[in-house]
Amino acid sequence: MSEAQNQTFKAEIKQLLDILIHSLYKEKEIFLRELVSNASDALTRLQFEMLTNDKVVNPEAELGIYLEAKKPEEGEEGDSWLIIKDTGIGMTAEELARNLGTIAQSGAREFLGKLREHGDNQPDINDVIGQFGVGFYSVFMAANEVKVISRSYNPEAEAAMWISDGGDTFRIEAAEKVDRGTEIHIKLRADSAEFADVWQLKQIVKKHSDFVAFPVYVDGEQANQQESLWRKRPADVEDEAYTSFYQMMTMDFEPPVSTIHFSSDAPLNLRSLLFIPAKREKMMFHKRQEPGPMLYCKNVLIQEYTPDLLPKWLHFVDGVVDSEDVPLNVSRESVQNTRIMRQLGKTIKRRVIREVKKLLEDEEKQEAFWGEFGRYFKEGLAMAFEDRDDIMPLLRFKSSKSDGKLISLETYIGRMQEGQDKIYYVTGDNLASAENSPHLDPLKERDIEVLYLVDAYDMYMSPSLRDYEEKQFQNVADADLGLPENEAEDAAEDAEDTATDESFDGLVARFKDVLGERVIDVVPSKVLSGSPYRLVAGEGEAQAGVSRLQRFVDQDFEIPKRTLELNRKHAMVNNIINLMGQEGQEELVNLSIEQLFDSALLQEGLHPNPAEIVPRMQRMIELATQA
Ligand code: ADP
Ligand code: MG
Repeated sequence: MSEAQNQTFKAEIKQLLDILIHSLYKEKEIFLRELVSNASDALTRLQFEMLTNDKVVNPEAELGIYLEAKKPEEGEEGDSWLIIKDTGIGMTAEELARNLGTIAQSGAREFLGKLREHGDNQPDINDVIGQFGVGFYSVFMAANEVKVISRSYNPEAEAAMWISDGGDTFRIEAAEKVDRGTEIHIKLRADSAEFADVWQLKQIVKKHSDFVAFPVYVDGEQANQQESLWRKRPADVEDEAYTSFYQMMTMDFEPPVSTIHFSSDAPLNLRSLLFIPAKREKMMFHKRQEPGPMLYCKNVLIQEYTPDLLPKWLHFVDGVVDSEDVPLNVSRESVQNTRIMRQLGKTIKRRVIREVKKLLEDEEKQEAFWGEFGRYFKEGLAMAFEDRDDIMPLLRFKSSKSDGKLISLETYIGRMQEGQDKIYYVTGDNLASAENSPHLDPLKERDIEVLYLVDAYDMYMSPSLRDYEEKQFQNVADADLGLPENEAEDAAEDAEDTATDESFDGLVARFKDVLGERVIDVVPSKVLSGSPYRLVAGEGEAQAGVSRLQRFVDQDFEIPKRTLELNRKHAMVNNIINLMGQEGQEELVNLSIEQLFDSALLQEGLHPNPAEIVPRMQRMIELATQA
């Protein structure tokens, strides 16, 4: 590099500079965060390079970031300067022009691209800090001249300098610099002289860059905590530190509901700091949009997202996993498949499950937690049946005896009735429809508890509910419930069996006539007590839960056929029988039968279009209110 060259910024940068300088940030100080984050990126990249290459300039140099302030002497006129140095990867003249002259060519992006060239089988290194920042150019919010002097890690390369006043052009010149890394000399605007104040600088570093993985020195003194929080002993970390780390990592507004900080040295080296967020939905500015914790090895970020570390049904967990045992120079596939990774995953999973259990046992937190993340476990059971032993104990349900609280299967089994050998559940579109389900009649009579499955994820999960601790799950909507004997009911049944009731037979015939093909059969119920009717699936028919799910997803949903059971002791049923015996009530009888059937479908969550019922309702009211 012999001659200085004047080069023009790409149009997009000019725009960006304009916005930055004139309006964007009220908080000018964030430029410092951007520069420190770039320095930290450069150090991370150097570290990564040094894993495989020892032919770098100054291999022994401390990996650090150094801020120096220069103010004019008391009483003297002059400019204030801020200098930021790092001992990172550095840039050649070409790299300076490319990285600081165009946005599209941002070095971090190119670095990622280079990794991808290796066929997606290199670990990603991508520091998250400042991901949403505007990067290097934000320096012009505070500067009216910037010089970037850099010396690449590559021994062959020469030092070079980039200079600009934030106008339309920049210049590249040869430079003197013997040590590796980058120095940014910032001539501060008059209105930004505060950035040459050491105390101010320390505050800003603490505020925005406290957990940067390299030491940040201000005037020779380290200003950030630097030690990765996850490498500290839990006893030495204050709660606020966890929260601020979490919020810096994710940009989540809310603090996490659980912080899981643990370490082990044998059989595996592991330092881990994981979080359970308060909410499932991620806000727009959430920094971590993909699942899976960050994977570090000896403080080097190996993978920004490591989804395979935890099963999918724990993907709401985020954080950092750091292990010195992770092999570095292997392809991505083999990172996933190594024994070490499996072992790491197993350890972490166990620890997370323990924490989830704790949340679920916490009276105050369980409801909110289950509301946010319960669906992960339900989906997990449906998708990852092999994980059932892990998932089943975590499932929570409301039930006919839980007083609106959530209970575990363990609790359910613990209070089963004598002679009961099944776990009963009822499905419904919501809690109210489950609570009022006619299928509960025979269980109420026996004082047997019934679990409520009331959301779409419950429906999705229900086919996977087979057994737990050798107790079969039983949908109460099935015809045969395998209930323990009940004397009162048996007596009633016997009585009914012997009594031939012509009028009831007539009613059944009328029902069959009106409903025709829409039902498999109409029969007197052997189980109903308080409810007038119920629909039951025939042998081998899809369960109500599955049908209900189809109703949600299938446009051409066909109502599954059911057997209609009628409770001959119920007043409503007897009223219809009476009505049948009266002149001129034909229409009301037929409408009642139609309405009764539609109501049964509604209660089962099987009605394809409830709005259709309204005109009939109106006609019935008209008839019922006739003088
Ligand atoms: P980003 O960091 O998002 O890539 P920036 O505008 O902050 O965008 O930086 C542009 C590029 O300039 C970086 O990607 C990097 O290649 C290069 N760069 C900036 N600062 C440094 C530095 N201190 N050391 C080495 N390279 C740097
Ligand atoms: Mg940057």
